Amino acid sequence: MIYMDNSATSPTLEEIFKEMQPYYEKKFGNASTLYKMGLEAKKAIEKSRKQVANLINAEPQEIIFTSGGTESDNWAIKGIALKELKKATSENKRNHIITSQIEHPAVLESCKFLETLGFEITYLPVYTNGIIKIEDLEKAIKKETILITIMNSNNEIGTIQPTKEIGKIANKYNITFHSDAVQSIGKIPVDVKKDNIDLLSISSHKIYGPKGIGALFIKKGTKLEKFMHGGGQENGKRSGTENIPAIVGFGKACEIAKRDLKQNMEHNQEIRDQLTKKILTRIPESFVNGDLVKRLPNNIHFRFSGIEGEALILRLEEKGLCAATGSACSSEKLEASHVLTALGIDPALAHGSLRLSIGIENSIDEVDEIVNDIDEVVKTLRNMSPLWDSINNEYIELDESVFTE
Ligand SMILES: *Cc1c(COP(=O)(O)O)cnc(C)c1O
Repeated sequence: MIYMDNSATSPTLEEIFKEMQPYYEKKFGNASTLYKMGLEAKKAIEKSRKQVANLINAEPQEIIFTSGGTESDNWAIKGIALKELKKATSENKRNHIITSQIEHPAVLESCKFLETLGFEITYLPVYTNGIIKIEDLEKAIKKETILITIMNSNNEIGTIQPTKEIGKIANKYNITFHSDAVQSIGKIPVDVKKDNIDLLSISSHKIYGPKGIGALFIKKGTKLEKFMHGGGQENGKRSGTENIPAIVGFGKACEIAKRDLKQNMEHNQEIRDQLTKKILTRIPESFVNGDLVKRLPNNIHFRFSGIEGEALILRLEEKGLCAATGSACSSEKLEASHVLTALGIDPALAHGSLRLSIGIENSIDEVDEIVNDIDEVVKTLRNMSPLWDSINNEYIELDESVFTE
């Protein structure tokens, strides 16, 4: 069994699980209590906060633990919007937010929700390479703009946005900048100070930590409305009894991610580049979705004309390879991924996509087996496809009128 779906989630490392275990057993205290067990829990949280802060070059007090990337995205966006809504008067109403068309659903759906409250959202295009243009961003800014929320890197196609340049623009116009860096931490360097980031979403389970834990980095001085009201944990910003074992595991995952970053980047990229070279030369009409260079070292996203991604995934699983088509969140829906559509890819062709996301458990020795498996499955599916001409080995482009009644 080869697992190449690390952008969906990653296994919890034994080293990390071992750190968590005592906090389920003997050290089960509530961090709000005054006796030794409570203090022990509190100390564990503060240690983790430092480990998390270190990974992204933040100060520990700027890290607030959440239940994961989804909550962090929701909180950052709605928190800024609600703060503004409270301040707004009938003459002075700032209600504009800028994002991109290829954000994670946690961002896009939060923005769509805000539209129902009267906010106006600009969804920047990303062109065929999957990257926004800074000129478009600057042009979209108005005096009502309160927030720019653009992801650090994309969860489907792995393209990396010009975060540093976005930070500069946000700073120039004095607009809060939120970035979803869930896919970036542990894969490429992320530095909130260098990049002028005000709010940053991160999650544990994509970097070999436990699920259901993440954090929102809130730069000192950035004001946003509370998302969870209650007993005042997390410095009054995010109430609820802390999930200590998960927090401990997340901290350890961040420590390891920082320690091994360079080595993992090289490891991932070597496998990624071999896979890319071999697939593109071996399989006719195979393409890469998104920029070839400005992408995460552990992500490669192929497109094969004439086949269905769902069938591809199921047949690859039979051969022992776990991979994805589109994003995990939309794998039950049949419409083409919003990310691939934003790249301008014909929905019929977008369906034949395959995401391989590499992790530390993969090895370069697996490459040939993976390429063989994909080649075989693609051939089989194409032989059954009405959209593939097996004699000339090419895609049959259908006349548009076939689809209209
Ligand atoms: C996985 C992911 C999320 C959601 O994080 P969870 O911790 O699973 O809620 C948000 N954004 C991106 C880019 C992701 O890849």
